[in-house]
Amino acid sequence: MSREIATAAIKGSHEIVGRARADLAAAIEKHGATQAIGWPELSAFHLPMIAALTGRDVANLMDAQAVLEEEASPLLAAVPDEHNWLPYLPGALDAGGATLMAEEISKAIGYLEGTEPRQPGWFGFISDTIQRTLGIQLVDGRMPGFAALVGAAPDVEKAVYIIRELQKRSILVFLVGNSNGLTVRDQLIEGGVFSPDILEHPEMGWDTYVVPVGPDTESLIYVLDWAARAAMIFGGIPKGDMKGILDYTRAHTFAFGMGLGPLDDIKYANGAGAIIMGFPVIADTPGPEIRPTGVCTYEEVVRELDHSRIVETSVQVRGLKVTVRDVNIPVPVAAAFEGETVRREDMQVEFGGKNNMAMEFLRTRPADDIKDGDVQVIGPDVDEMEEGSSHDIALLIEVAGRKMQDDFEPILERQTHLIVNHAMGIFHMGQRDLAWIRISKAGYQAGFRLRHFGDLLISELKHSYGAILDKVQVRVVTDKAVIDKAHVEAREVWHARDIRIAGMTDETVDTYYSCTLCQSYAPNHVCIITPERLGLCGAYNWLDGKAAYEINPTGGNQPVAKGAQVLEAEGEFKGVNDFVHKYSQRTVDRVCLYSMMDAPMTSCGCFEVILSILPEANGIMAVNREYRGMTPCGMPFTTLAGSVGGGNVTPGFLGVGRLYIGSPKFIRSDGGIRRLVWMPRELKDQLREAINKQGEALGVPDLADRIADETVGETGEQILPFLTEKQHPALEMEPMF
Ligand code: SF4
Ligand code: ZN
Repeated sequence: MSREIATAAIKGSHEIVGRARADLAAAIEKHGATQAIGWPELSAFHLPMIAALTGRDVANLMDAQAVLEEEASPLLAAVPDEHNWLPYLPGALDAGGATLMAEEISKAIGYLEGTEPRQPGWFGFISDTIQRTLGIQLVDGRMPGFAALVGAAPDVEKAVYIIRELQKRSILVFLVGNSNGLTVRDQLIEGGVFSPDILEHPEMGWDTYVVPVGPDTESLIYVLDWAARAAMIFGGIPKGDMKGILDYTRAHTFAFGMGLGPLDDIKYANGAGAIIMGFPVIADTPGPEIRPTGVCTYEEVVRELDHSRIVETSVQVRGLKVTVRDVNIPVPVAAAFEGETVRREDMQVEFGGKNNMAMEFLRTRPADDIKDGDVQVIGPDVDEMEEGSSHDIALLIEVAGRKMQDDFEPILERQTHLIVNHAMGIFHMGQRDLAWIRISKAGYQAGFRLRHFGDLLISELKHSYGAILDKVQVRVVTDKAVIDKAHVEAREVWHARDIRIAGMTDETVDTYYSCTLCQSYAPNHVCIITPERLGLCGAYNWLDGKAAYEINPTGGNQPVAKGAQVLEAEGEFKGVNDFVHKYSQRTVDRVCLYSMMDAPMTSCGCFEVILSILPEANGIMAVNREYRGMTPCGMPFTTLAGSVGGGNVTPGFLGVGRLYIGSPKFIRSDGGIRRLVWMPRELKDQLREAINKQGEALGVPDLADRIADETVGETGEQILPFLTEKQHPALEMEPMF
């Protein structure tokens, strides 16, 4: 360990703890020691870093003071002097721990005082909800890792270059701190990566994988907080298990810090905090390094003075597995560009939308009819279209493959959305004949033309689905007569597909599919996906599981032979039990697919909706993760999620995908959808038709209107009179418990 680094980190930690002490004293003086502190959206973990490292729930100023004095201060080592040759590493690492706790306290007080987030245009605390929403992308490899950029690049050009290199690798980037008042956020506005709207809406950053978190170094705590929560949310590691949590973040949370510009004591102290979590720091300025490995997976502190290499070096030091897709079109292609929107004033042309039709249709054809890799443009190209104009378009994708099945067509067709969106400067929404596509002026100027839709689709489909696709050709059509003809065929095929899916039930197949993608986060979690019950993240249905297995027979989706029926109403099968037993590392030996009371499925962290029992109503409630308010079970989504996730089985609580609520198999053995007495309005409206359809099958055709929501009340007491007045069926049912 370099003495220079250790000295700076320890000095910095003294300063940060000192500031937290002053912040606390002032806050207690002003508000009293029992004043609650926290975040705008409650976290299940209160102050997550402190919870992770010490197991303590900090609810008010008094708790914070106890943590500062009893946990953080004792970690402050003496600053090494010139003649001290003892090892410095432990002192510096402890300084990192003290820094994290003290900073978190100061930030929470900042929220109390209204001084956080510092200025508009900075995101501040990252809520549990956002964490869960992004979880799935980190799990399935779409996001290989994340980077905290601390400081600012030497100039705008280098800032843009570094960000584009990170985006190409789909690494989520957090922007923190400044160098002499200069921030990367402002550099990116100047360089045209961010629209100036980011100053009003920092949340826009999530869509492009670049999030401005805070203009001061201390805002790094918001990023590290998120990493600590990953261990508790997805890893199921109990708070306070410091070693378990730090081991988890090192092994499963692929983060690194990039120090841009000169480093001061505060930056070194924060760097030490990152290092104890296993996150190396790569700096662009000369100075000492820490090469011997031990705390991080590889080196701890590395210098890379060449900005054209700094991303590559960081990826190596952190040991990230990233693949950069090199598609032969004029604009870069990466998942990070998925969320970009193209505003009207930045748009060259658009297809579909309000007054036009954009359709995409994928069909299997005989292999002999397809010329692999062929792209034809039929009709006028973008050059011939007036700037800012709207048109019709059809993307007609024709495929052949010995392992191709009709069932895979809708899955592949749906990929059009992601594939087209991944091109920088191209925007895509919707599917089938309701798509909407925009080509930005920047994309057009870079040379993007209609044929590139074809090149892009062919390259990406073959890359991801090469195992089932031997040949792909694309026709990009803007000629009205050809579009109309294709539309007639497409409508027939779509209709037939809808009918087929609607007719598929859990009884009509004898194989279900597993998903264990989330095991990288929740090692005991197994999703069993059936035609009538999709994965709890909402992202994988039975057909997806089937296709994924064909594509990658050794991957996370395996066929599960149902085997003999054990309990009918509950949906318990011998084959499923055996499978889950084996794949849950022998921690779960029974699963009832249609029950939340008797051997329910495990829940990882990425459920769209949580179901919870409501004993006073003899029923259950459902809450989706977007809903911020209180619920009748006495907990908001985030708190509830904290007790359900981590790959555990929790009878009475269950994480599910939204669409399962409208399934005929929805908690069938517990009484089905007639038990549902409360759900947020937005969720109810979205599922209204399906709820009423299932209600009708159970004798309550207007069920949706009898289910309470937040406009009726947010406690059992408030909703009971409503349920009674509406004669909600749950009140009349046999007792649930
Ligand atoms: Fe995770 Fe289940 Fe979704 Fe697979 S289906 S990604 S295991 S939540
Ligand atoms: Zn999951």
